[in-house]
Amino acid sequence: RPTSPTQAHAPILRVQGLTKRFHPDFPPVVENVGFTVEQGEVFALLGPSGCGKTTTLRLIAGFEQPESGQVWLEGREITRLPAEERGIGFVFQDYALFPHLSVFENVAFGLRRLRGKVRQARVLEVLGLVGLTVFKDRKPGELSGGQQQRVALARAIAPGPKLVLLDEPFSSLDAALRQATRDEVRALLKQAGIGAILVTHDQEEALSFADRLAVMRSGQLEQVGTPEEVYHRPRTPFVAQFLGRTNLIPGEARGLEAETPLGRILLSEEAHGAVLLSLRPEGLGLAMPLGHLGISGKQLEGTVLAREFKGHDMTYRVQLGNRELIVQESPESPFRPGDKVRVLVRAKAVVVGRGQ
Ligand code: ATP
Repeated sequence: RPTSPTQAHAPILRVQGLTKRFHPDFPPVVENVGFTVEQGEVFALLGPSGCGKTTTLRLIAGFEQPESGQVWLEGREITRLPAEERGIGFVFQDYALFPHLSVFENVAFGLRRLRGKVRQARVLEVLGLVGLTVFKDRKPGELSGGQQQRVALARAIAPGPKLVLLDEPFSSLDAALRQATRDEVRALLKQAGIGAILVTHDQEEALSFADRLAVMRSGQLEQVGTPEEVYHRPRTPFVAQFLGRTNLIPGEARGLEAETPLGRILLSEEAHGAVLLSLRPEGLGLAMPLGHLGISGKQLEGTVLAREFKGHDMTYRVQLGNRELIVQESPESPFRPGDKVRVLVRAKAVVVGRGQ
């Protein structure tokens, strides 16, 4: 198939206006979803359980047909192409390995089109890549969860796809193994130059694994961006809250400042009128009330409700007027429940919506 100059620079995957409904009386499970994945890029679809992530992945893989919208792979439309002709790898949540086949045979399964020696060489090459050569004759049941996960990955990448789809592949691993496996898989994909889409409901996993991610809610994408963008510049209250703890505060914006219940605070970008602002706990701080220091002056005085020691920081819940704030301080900070504290605003607030 000839590649035109535009195709050579085409994203590995383009999804446009994808909509899927399982039942005519219910709203679509996936609605007007669109995004692109560049060559070799690791992308994540992040959202709460039931928001439509897996269905989106299955539409891309060809296991489901959309009601409308298109899927393009390297500039070629594949919306109606059967799954087995798409050349996309898939790693299922439960790995879906064949229990009666050896590790070697499981990986070879995806290479039915290759013959004898070539096939064998490719299986050994991929097993080497995922560090499982010594286990090649074992059955999946004789491996740990992390090892089974690597067999599933090896099987998905053996045919040499440019894109693999990973549906919550780390969810059955315990916390320590999950992080190590995640780092390994990411390094492997990058080394092989394979693009990937990871489906997860774990914000930390999406932030650390992906080059870019899409935050999904009730079948729709709320925001697409780099981990830094979606964390530091969320566009909606949902994105702000789903990516970590935050304080949502109403305000009246005038350019680069806003009047709020926390006083006048700076904004990360210009806005006007009633707004809803997000301030992360690390953007707030606590200090002794001015009175304790023998100084009189205007201050935001609150009361500590609770504190939580987290090793690398101390997180406080503070009552300020009728509002409860989450504040992150250094682990040595001395305040205790009941203490009066002065609340400091240390960062610019982000506009996440219009106010009432
Ligand atoms: P989870 O993280 O829990 O897997 P998800 O974000 O991946 O959730 P989906 O599995 O895509 O969500 O499901 C989205 C919605 O579509 C759910 O309400 C689910 O019940 C519904 N759904 C999924 N598959 C089907 C199907 N084959 N028939 C009917 N409804 C379905």
